[in-house]
Amino acid sequence: MTAALIDGKAIAASLRADIAAAVARLPDKPTLAVVLVGDNPASQVYVRSKVKQTEEAGMISKELRLPATATQAEVEAVVRDLSADPAVDGILVQLPLPAGLDEAAVLSRLDPAKDVDGLTEISAGRLVLGKPGLRPCTPEGCVILAKSVHPDLAGAHVVVIGRSILVGKPAALLFLEQNATVSMAHSRTKDLPALCRSADILVPAVGRPLMVKADWVRPGATVIDVGINRIDQGDGKSRLVGDVDFAAVKEVAGAITPVPGGVGPMTIACLLRNTVIAACRRRGWAPPAL
Ligand code: NAP
Repeated sequence: MTAALIDGKAIAASLRADIAAAVARLPDKPTLAVVLVGDNPASQVYVRSKVKQTEEAGMISKELRLPATATQAEVEAVVRDLSADPAVDGILVQLPLPAGLDEAAVLSRLDPAKDVDGLTEISAGRLVLGKPGLRPCTPEGCVILAKSVHPDLAGAHVVVIGRSILVGKPAALLFLEQNATVSMAHSRTKDLPALCRSADILVPAVGRPLMVKADWVRPGATVIDVGINRIDQGDGKSRLVGDVDFAAVKEVAGAITPVPGGVGPMTIACLLRNTVIAACRRRGWAPPAL
């Protein structure tokens, strides 16, 4: 079997087009503020993409850069001021912060109404309680990609590998919200390959290159690969791979996301969608169907 490719780039582009059309109909432009601390090269690339795509969707982007030497108090003050600024609808603090800074304390300064990354305690609590709120972007993207193959996820067995606050835990809760039957695997899970083989939909979010092998996947299953890992090609160059051994698994799976071009583009599209939702809620505008 050769799996159908789940084209995250195309699905994200279509969502961004819907967002741009919705933004054009709003009474005013939503504003997204991105806070970047330090000079992590990967973070700089992500922030550039976020700024570019925010503007392409017709929204206002505000970028705040602080040096790696910024103190805890300085970073918290920036987030606190953005939270208080009525012109700002969404705030994204690019993680990870430089070593020595307390991420949880920084996020605690973020107004939950502007928490477009869905990372504050209020957002997490709303997700657990099944209340409306801003959902974390990468897991939300995973659900959209899974629904592109299985429009109705009710009863599907979803195995999420990873239980991080950023990806694994919220992904499990979002699939549960879709009435899937969810298993959460992690580093202490026994016989992980057997558990994975029981999945209708497998969502590895680990950060271990090519970990998921072909015999971990039930023939015909859907694989949503969250992992982004840079590996040495051996010729002095490096390339990006997921947590899934794509070349082998695509011969077994029914549908699979590539890396890059799968979950990654969905993360930014979902961030833009959250910014529109946050702006509409804050400003009392009728929310567009997105
Ligand atoms: P993380 O915080 O390091 O969490 C990794 C999780 O994997 C942990 O829960 C860990 O279990 C589990 N794990 C580690 N080794 C394992 C093993 N051998 N077997 C089973 N589980 C294992 O990472 P993260 O922030 O969730 O990110 C995960 C991956 O997604 C990374 O590659 C990251 O780059 C990628 N990512 C992609 C996007 C995107 O937009 N596509 C966004 C965010 C992250 P324990 O809890 O037991 O330690």
